[in-house]
Amino acid sequence: MSRYAVISDIHGNLYAFQAVLAAMPALNIESLICLGDTVGYGPHPGECLDLVVRHCDIVVQGNHDQAVVDPLCADTFNGAAREAIYWTRAALGPLHLNALLQMPLTRRLGPGDSIHCVHDSPGAGPTNYVHDKQIAALAFRGLADLDAEICLIGHTHVPMVFEAPPLADAEATLSATDLTAYIPSHEVEIDLRPELRYICNPGSVGQPRDCDARASFAVLDLDQRTFTVHRVAYDVAAAQLATQQAGLPTVLADRLAIGA
Ligand code: ZN
Repeated sequence: MSRYAVISDIHGNLYAFQAVLAAMPALNIESLICLGDTVGYGPHPGECLDLVVRHCDIVVQGNHDQAVVDPLCADTFNGAAREAIYWTRAALGPLHLNALLQMPLTRRLGPGDSIHCVHDSPGAGPTNYVHDKQIAALAFRGLADLDAEICLIGHTHVPMVFEAPPLADAEATLSATDLTAYIPSHEVEIDLRPELRYICNPGSVGQPRDCDARASFAVLDLDQRTFTVHRVAYDVAAAQLATQQAGLPTVLADRLAIGA
């Protein structure tokens, strides 16, 4: 296996997920990786779970997936997110809830298990949202402890690649100035140099937050050593209508149109 599609944060948006799956055949994908948050926010959690089970070879659990099956965890969410968690739990039957419960938090893949897959961050605590170089530096320290070269994450809903120098004795002092951040554009390859280390985020399928409303995913090619983000237009109006008809908070429908 050397060419993976990487998806994350579908969030019950069936129309966005179907558009992403429709783009796959043209991309010569050998394996599909899902980095979690298949449910939460959107009106089609069961349908999205069924497609993930059918199409994805590797799946990890996201914080929304966990919250749906763990009431204590759900209480830490605020406002519309918590309301959507409760709605999702009520909408799913025992088979779907069990599928969420069984998802592992991390998976390893690739040559020498050098690729680490996790929903939020390879680091713990304050590193959970890896959205800038300061936090990425802490995440790379976590990655060093895990002895991995590439880490695939989601969670921020913003496609991004962070590059770090080779592992050194000075890892504990790794800081933002040691890192390079890339903001991926549609179908522009980012080279992953063999001697360096990377944290790669494909963005969100079902609720992008980088002011681009199109569904986001990525292709990781280990032969070419590239990470390429792809954006796919989908029927946003249909997703908004389904969100409203489900009785989910209006803000969750509104934000889909602006990708924020
Ligand atoms: Zn998410």
